[in-house]
Amino acid sequence: MELIPYGRQDIGEADIKAVEAVLRSDWLTQGPKVPEFERAVADYCGANHAVAVNSATSALHIACLALGLGESDVLWTSPNTFVASANCARYCGADVDFVDIDPHTYNMSVAALIAKLEYAEKYGRLPKVVVPVHFAGQSCEMMQIKELSEQYGFCILEDAAHAIGGKYRGEPIGSCRYSDITVFSFHPVKIITTGEGGMALTNDPELARRMERLRGHGITREEGLMTEKPHGVWFYQQIELGFNYRMTDIQAVLGLSQLQRLDIFIHQRQKLSQIYRERLRLLQLQLPWQHPDTDSSWHLYVILVDKLDRCQLVEYLMKAKVNCNVHYIPVHTQPYYRKLGFKLGDFPVAEQFYETALTLPLHCRLTLEQQDFIIKRLGNFMVDKKLR
Ligand SMILES: *Cc1c(COP(=O)(O)O)cnc(C)c1O
Repeated sequence: MELIPYGRQDIGEADIKAVEAVLRSDWLTQGPKVPEFERAVADYCGANHAVAVNSATSALHIACLALGLGESDVLWTSPNTFVASANCARYCGADVDFVDIDPHTYNMSVAALIAKLEYAEKYGRLPKVVVPVHFAGQSCEMMQIKELSEQYGFCILEDAAHAIGGKYRGEPIGSCRYSDITVFSFHPVKIITTGEGGMALTNDPELARRMERLRGHGITREEGLMTEKPHGVWFYQQIELGFNYRMTDIQAVLGLSQLQRLDIFIHQRQKLSQIYRERLRLLQLQLPWQHPDTDSSWHLYVILVDKLDRCQLVEYLMKAKVNCNVHYIPVHTQPYYRKLGFKLGDFPVAEQFYETALTLPLHCRLTLEQQDFIIKRLGNFMVDKKLR
């Protein structure tokens, strides 16, 4: 039996043909396929603008810069996320702080956010940007967070790296109805892939223009932004410090092709998650709870194994060639963040969650036979431990 990864891409013949056609064309780097991919994702989500880049990490970085995050500012995010959600603030010279998670959704807790905002207002250190992370593909409670942003005056940057294809209150995540900017990742373990890649969506044309410029070295060809008349048609000016965060046409065409199967991918992930739910219900495991306002993209299937020895279980499954994973080591406990003053005990719900969380394999290439095998192995382990 081959190794079962916790997540992986699903590349089909149509994807390969689409990439081949670009390889035979005149454009390899950012060409006609990039704006086509941007338009397609924006339309899918119901947002006005999209800016494709080479990773979600880059998208988070230029999103923070476009929102004006700078050295005297603070960004708040969830401790239960990948380090990139916090690092984007550090790239801008800003400070990071965290808001503990809700014990049911594992997303940023609205109650904890309210308490922290009240405290921060008293001490004059309100956040400039808040980054809710849609953990495992389930939306945060965006309506409440949006209301708080109006009350306290912060910007909202949704980290939706897990969540393309998911919905909140019946609308696609990425619509930016409740945020300034939403970021997607197209890394191979995520919902759709471009190899590496990311995108920032917004309804604000000014934010979109700023992010486009920051993606390309801070260079503009807009005469209205130049300090002098163009010398000729070749002319451009660098008006600020930007980056080379461009997506290639090779990536964009793969993304376009993958996007056509996005709804099928989500359906497949829902189906597998439902099987996990039905068959694991009888075991002594805590299964993921879904807020009624959300339709998850089911990027990850995370269970809590508080009655089991997780290390033993992971090794037992590994011996059967089943690769599980753990999402996430709380970001504030990473050595880099400890050096900035964070310590164990700062965000106890996220820390407690990390102690027993386990991510089971879930992806579109996972067969029903493989899933059956995983579930039986898990059951066997519990029988061995006399836990059933
Ligand atoms: C994967 C991920 C990122 C980073 O995405 P890249 O495209 O790899 O840069 C950011 N945030 C979260 C929550 C992620 O899971």
